[in-house]
Amino acid sequence: MSAIDIIKRRLKEDRVPETPDEISRKKKRPREVAFMDVNLCFPCGKCPEFCPVQCLEYMRPGSVPGRGVQPVQDRFQECIGCYICVEVCALLTDYDAIRMYDSNMVEDVLGVKITDTPPDPPIPAEPYEEYFSEGGLYRHLGKGSRIREKMTAEERAIFARERVRS
Ligand code: SF4
Ligand code: SF4
Repeated sequence: MSAIDIIKRRLKEDRVPETPDEISRKKKRPREVAFMDVNLCFPCGKCPEFCPVQCLEYMRPGSVPGRGVQPVQDRFQECIGCYICVEVCALLTDYDAIRMYDSNMVEDVLGVKITDTPPDPPIPAEPYEEYFSEGGLYRHLGKGSRIREKMTAEERAIFARERVRS
């Protein structure tokens, strides 16, 4: 069993809604959406491999000044709240850059509506450092890994083998 299989199985056991096995699109409004701390994101490129709605992208050049390869951020209006990126970053990298935030709070903070379908056309990702990076206004409200403490020694060994090294 691979690390991503363990993540998906553990999240299902934890009753996290929407952990589809196939690439899909948002079909209902999620209770939470993800935001990366763009200053912590290396970027290793691991989480975009596994997002089931493919809403994680490297930001446009110049989005975060001083960074060559731009960090990853999600197009949050497409996020289904599945926690997969949170677990990948927390358990397979050294960065733990991603947190989940209550959708109602995000609507208030950003002055947007999060609906049950993705916007068309897609809205490009933005850094949102002032809100969701360490030292930002709301990072402390974000939720991190749900499964870290539940893993067996055997599962930890699999994660150690697949871990991204900086
Ligand atoms: S897994 Fe973490 S460090 Fe790697 S690209 Fe995603 S947010 Fe950045
Ligand atoms: S929680 Fe992460 S992996 Fe899941 S849909 Fe949102 S951005 Fe993609």
